[in-house]
Amino acid sequence: MKRIAVITSGGDAPGMNACIRAIVNTAYQEGIEVVGFRHGYRGIVDNLFQPLHPDDMRLVSQRGGTFLKSARYPEFREVETAQKAATQLNNHDISALVVIGGDGSFRGAAHLANYWQGQIIGIPGTIDNDLAGTDITIGFATAVDTAMEAIDRVRETAEAMARVFIIEVMGRQAGFIGLHAAISSAAEAMILPEMDPQPKLPELADNIKQARVAFPDSSYIVILSENLWPGGVHALAESLTKATGVTCHACPLGHIQRGGRPNAQDRILAMQLGQAAVSAILEGSSDVMIGLENEHVVEVPLHLTFDRDKPLAPRLVNLQLGLQGVNFTSKKVRKNA
Ligand code: ADP
Repeated sequence: MKRIAVITSGGDAPGMNACIRAIVNTAYQEGIEVVGFRHGYRGIVDNLFQPLHPDDMRLVSQRGGTFLKSARYPEFREVETAQKAATQLNNHDISALVVIGGDGSFRGAAHLANYWQGQIIGIPGTIDNDLAGTDITIGFATAVDTAMEAIDRVRETAEAMARVFIIEVMGRQAGFIGLHAAISSAAEAMILPEMDPQPKLPELADNIKQARVAFPDSSYIVILSENLWPGGVHALAESLTKATGVTCHACPLGHIQRGGRPNAQDRILAMQLGQAAVSAILEGSSDVMIGLENEHVVEVPLHLTFDRDKPLAPRLVNLQLGLQGVNFTSKKVRKNA
């Protein structure tokens, strides 16, 4: 009988549990046993073994995080560590490994494939949505919902007090959360890694000053992707305060974007990809990610998920750029008319 192992690795994402459920239940129906290793690659090396049975999967889908736990484990880049993992997998008679994670986890999977003969299947699980070869990753939709709800709350107090807020969202090197959060919260400005040229301080300051003149009683919200502005959101807020003479408040959303119950879209995506991963194993696939393109499940060679950049949809960037300026322009036009 085949034996499949599952890990969740790297940044956790809402929907990972639903994905594990789909893998375990699908495999069970095929007579395949599933085991987990807690804490990602570290769990394989340290033998943090956990049998997984459908009876235990009934109530996991609604929970955020990952009950299998995750980890950052830089030691996995070393050859000996990957070899140890291969030995552990062989000791447990594992013939296929499913890695639910982001681009780092898939690099780890490609590294392991050099030392282990079993099948390796990746499932995209990251709130950042930054894996090429899939339109969407598990956790992204929930993270955008969470960011939008948080920004809506900031908006209410900002509006009441007529304040300027710079809100920092997650995304590591990618602006997907920033863009979707900016559109859905009707932000006045956004600063994303993919923008070329990047918005400059004087330009941002001018926009804020013009908005204050046109409509002094209003809030103004800038969405900033993390790891982008030198010194981060606090430095930007400080510089903008100096440049505009208006106090600009920094508000990093931080890890609340990672947690929370997965929304329906993420649960459904996670279960689809989990089920498809087991089918892929049965068909003999290996070293591929199971993704979703144009609503079809696809298999993409692992290295093509992290060797290529995944661009933002230009029509969505243009949507936000086209709408964000009008918040205040219309007031100005009306005032001047
Ligand atoms: P994510 O999967 O969310 O992108 P990380 O970048 O932290 O998260 O990667 C998760 C884990 O994958 C790392 O902690 C490490 O164990 C493993 N990993 C990442 N990059 C590599 C690499 N180049 N070689 C081997 N293992 C890697």
